[in-house]
Amino acid sequence: MDNITIVVPCYNEQEVIDLFYPTVTECVDQIPDCKFRYIFVNDGSRDGTLEKLRTLSAAHEDVTYLSLSRNFGKESAMMAGIDFAEGDAVIIMDADLQHPPQLIAEMVKWWRAGYDDVCAKRTDRHGETRLKRTCANLFYAAMKKFSTSYEMQRDVGDFRLLDRRCIEALKLMRENQRFTKGLFTWVGFRKKEIPFEVQPRAAGQTTWNFFSLFNLAMKGMTSFTTAPLRMMTFLGITVSCGAMVYMLIVLARALLYGDPVAGYPTLMTVMLFLGGTQLLALGIIGEYLGQIFHETKHRPIYLVDEIDGDRMIYTAERIPTERNARRR
Ligand code: UDP
Ligand code: MG
Repeated sequence: MDNITIVVPCYNEQEVIDLFYPTVTECVDQIPDCKFRYIFVNDGSRDGTLEKLRTLSAAHEDVTYLSLSRNFGKESAMMAGIDFAEGDAVIIMDADLQHPPQLIAEMVKWWRAGYDDVCAKRTDRHGETRLKRTCANLFYAAMKKFSTSYEMQRDVGDFRLLDRRCIEALKLMRENQRFTKGLFTWVGFRKKEIPFEVQPRAAGQTTWNFFSLFNLAMKGMTSFTTAPLRMMTFLGITVSCGAMVYMLIVLARALLYGDPVAGYPTLMTVMLFLGGTQLLALGIIGEYLGQIFHETKHRPIYLVDEIDGDRMIYTAERIPTERNARRR
């Protein structure tokens, strides 16, 4: 009998939770020799999500919920679920039923065939704006170019089944600025991609907008590659060489033809170009500095306020063992 935990991060999902549990249970009940548990992580929702979760966990023995002390973001919420998950494997899925639960059977099949990380790869990006698609393409292209040691998986989200080995590996990475998609790739192990089509949201609203996606992309870049810094060095060298050549030209011209005061446009162009390049370089250094700033504080990734009705502060380092013993 395999034990699998399904981790579900929830932020303002009161409309879908009641739908989520029966839909998924109906699907996974048909998988032979498998016992499923659920961990819902309430990521500081402002609506009735927590009440829904309380009711659900009271009614069903296989449901646990964690409630974080505030909104920490999906990446942190997932980590909380992963830290508290028990069993031989973990499945991460969104609460909004955009991830079809029918796929779980196939994931389990591949997992039993020996794969450690079975991830769902979206086959279409319909229903997304052209701008979003172009940006996604640019991001993947840049990541592919920059990170030489391993390749970021394309069009693969957080919907995946992870073997206990991957989970233990992920738990070792306590970085604050989490880019989970990169972390999944980083840990390695045997990966299998299975295609799926993203479903429309069952209810509620997406919380991602252009800027949050841009921020996520920046986080991904700065936490997984220092190539932009290297690029700035090259740009600096190129610009300096160009400046040197131009200086010689100006000097020679002044010596040969005298020095008539002119060249305002040239001066402006050079100044603006250099100014722009410097600001860009500073900005990129600043991004990395920001990462270092956040990481050096070593704050916990999340704080748990409540577990199944118990109100206490839990962090990953302080998961109460007697509690786990009681549950088993
Ligand atoms: N989510 C979360 N914390 C947040 C934002 C989102 O836990 O701060 C959860 C959300 O409840 C959902 C999943 O992450 O289960 C994906 O979010 P959403 O559907 O808004 O994103 P999209 O599917 O549009 O990428
Ligand atoms: Mg969604």
